[in-house]
Amino acid sequence: MTTPQDAARTLFEKLTGHAPAGVWSAPGRVNLIGEHTDYNDGFVLPFAIPHRTYAAVGMREDGRIRVASTFAEEAVEVALDELNTLFPTATGAEPAVQEWAAYPLGVAWALQLAGATGVGVDIAIASDVPVGAGLSSSAAIEGATASALNELWDAQLDRSALARIGRRSENEAVGAPTGIMDQMASMLGETDAALFLDCRTLDANLVPLSMSETGLAILVMDTRVKHAHSTGGYGERRASCERGAAIMRVPSLRDVSVDDLPRAKELMDDVTFRRVRHVVTENQRVLDTVTALRAQGPRAIGALIVASHVSMRDDFEISIPELDTAVETALTAGAIGARMTGGGFGGAAIALVEQGSVQQVSDAVTAAFAASGFTAPHIFTVTPAAGAHRDS
Ligand code: ADP
Ligand code: MG
Repeated sequence: MTTPQDAARTLFEKLTGHAPAGVWSAPGRVNLIGEHTDYNDGFVLPFAIPHRTYAAVGMREDGRIRVASTFAEEAVEVALDELNTLFPTATGAEPAVQEWAAYPLGVAWALQLAGATGVGVDIAIASDVPVGAGLSSSAAIEGATASALNELWDAQLDRSALARIGRRSENEAVGAPTGIMDQMASMLGETDAALFLDCRTLDANLVPLSMSETGLAILVMDTRVKHAHSTGGYGERRASCERGAAIMRVPSLRDVSVDDLPRAKELMDDVTFRRVRHVVTENQRVLDTVTALRAQGPRAIGALIVASHVSMRDDFEISIPELDTAVETALTAGAIGARMTGGGFGGAAIALVEQGSVQQVSDAVTAAFAASGFTAPHIFTVTPAAGAHRDS
């Protein structure tokens, strides 16, 4: 079977007629808990997954940048000094290049803004991260590109600076108003650990997940319902959070605690209050999950994970019937905890299950989807994996 790393090399050679200078990769991620808290300056607890995006990259002497992907028909090529005419993308506008190409080109542009300069490059991309499934193929393509250019252009940025480069590309070159979680998880992930991230300070600490020692597994249940990335519900939820923070007279919802909720309820309309309550309680659940993981291990976090799903379903209203079915069926079939993960409106749910019941839970969810007339889900296990690095 061709690996995505081989596919990236092959694509590079087909494009240029020579071998790449190197191959770099970055993983997708699953968020264990802490949803829609990142852009509220709050807490998240994601981990990197074994699925990765590879960038085979080589230099060229003519000051141009060309990007190709196994997912796209044609390569896209521009002069490096033209990037600043393409980006930033005006709010709400389509990028001036094919959307997928704005992710890697936007990384090059953001690196230039951070002071990096270098010769032209060819970039060939291949990936086994499911796209649009809430597993952050976007952060993976950004992280692989950023890691490669950081080295080839000798920019000497550290991993969290590269995460911010990726985010800038996604926000300003692609025009998707996402937070910093995905890029940080993809850049800083470590094997068998989750990344406890304070999105205000970007302070990041690894928390051991000890999945294999405890006999547990994490199941990803991709509903195959594609979420829309830059529009609609996500932006609306962000606006509600900003409104809630303004009413509470704080810079962000990070500064509202569970004890402040009764006062918040008196000050705002019901919808805004429920959006606020999700974020505030979710931040607390992340802190409680980290405490429970450290003190007792992953068996102790099931109820917190389920409470997170309920809050997203009822208060933040970002779940869909497919995600609810996956979660409810997994729990009925014996999962310790389950929740939708990612931005919502589609994408994947996760379940924490005994290794011995992976098959049973998977079969139950597949059967429930068939019975409801949903598209068959894509179900697989993931282990917390390493973040971005050079492969060859
Ligand atoms: P998610 O991050 O949940 O997978 P997003 O909508 O944030 O979903 O990002 C998916 C987009 O990222 C794709 O539509 C495409 O534009 C781009 N992308 C991701 N991986 C690749 C790839 N390997 N090749 C080309 N484009 C990619
Ligand atoms: Mg994404």
